[in-house]
Amino acid sequence: MLSYRHSFHAGNFADIIKHVVLIETLQYLTQKDKPFEYIDTHAGAGLYDLGSSDANKLKEYQAGIAKLSAADFPELQHYFDIIQSYNQTDKLSVYPGSPAIAKTFLRRQDRAWLYELHPRDYKSLHDNLGSHKKIGIFCQDGFQQLKALLPPASRRALVLIDPSYEVKFEYDLVFDTLQDSYKKFATGSYLLWYPVVDRQRVERLEKKFIRSGIKNIQRFELGVAADSDETGMTASGMFVINPPWTLYDRMAAILPRLAKTLGNDNEKAHYKCDVIAGE
Ligand code: SAM
Repeated sequence: MLSYRHSFHAGNFADIIKHVVLIETLQYLTQKDKPFEYIDTHAGAGLYDLGSSDANKLKEYQAGIAKLSAADFPELQHYFDIIQSYNQTDKLSVYPGSPAIAKTFLRRQDRAWLYELHPRDYKSLHDNLGSHKKIGIFCQDGFQQLKALLPPASRRALVLIDPSYEVKFEYDLVFDTLQDSYKKFATGSYLLWYPVVDRQRVERLEKKFIRSGIKNIQRFELGVAADSDETGMTASGMFVINPPWTLYDRMAAILPRLAKTLGNDNEKAHYKCDVIAGE
């Protein structure tokens, strides 16, 4: 059962925090010449047409990326540059998903592994990113395939786990997958996205991380409204295992202004920047 399509949500406030953390981590990893592997367990379609009927059904990007201006967020210049590189003109027509963002960082020595289970999004991903011999694109279960890739030959990897949580057991599955992955490869950087639809589910996940014995975990969250069991996703965040040492300060500087801008000055807009487990 795969009913979630990211084309309805691309460029929303949740994509912004996810992609800012992704870019910060990729920038850090590519400071060294040593090869790394990028593993995206839930890749989506790669590129999203913001003029499509899907994007304009909910118009989430208008309350997201369309509200940010590069002039107000100089720290996010690299993010804006990547978005611009996928647009023909200054008009925002296309929003790049995580694989398209990661592709801009890949050097000759690096590799990417992208998994997308929805046949239509897999085809789009292939059409959008396909002809690059260092990028493997698979219509397979990313949770399953991650296990087979760890530890990576290069011994340096960034794993993005970005499910839709359309089935509730994914809250358990993401934790179990990360715990297994950490046992096989404790020095990798792992980025786990989560939505705040039901706060208790996120708190349970956080407690599991605290008790897990996994070291060096940070959490960044951006909320545009107060928690509510009735209004859908009000916030979203990232648990980051083995973050770059620069990430916490960068996020602490950016998140207050992102919350103010994307929360429409709503006093219930909020952010979190926490160390969940020390080094
Ligand atoms: N990471 C993308 C980005 O940031 O641009 C967005 C991904 S979207 C939130 C989640 C995607 O995971 C959907 O396209 C969905 O079809 C796909 N998916 C769901 N279950 C999956 C699984 N077990 N393995 C791989 N892909 C899956």
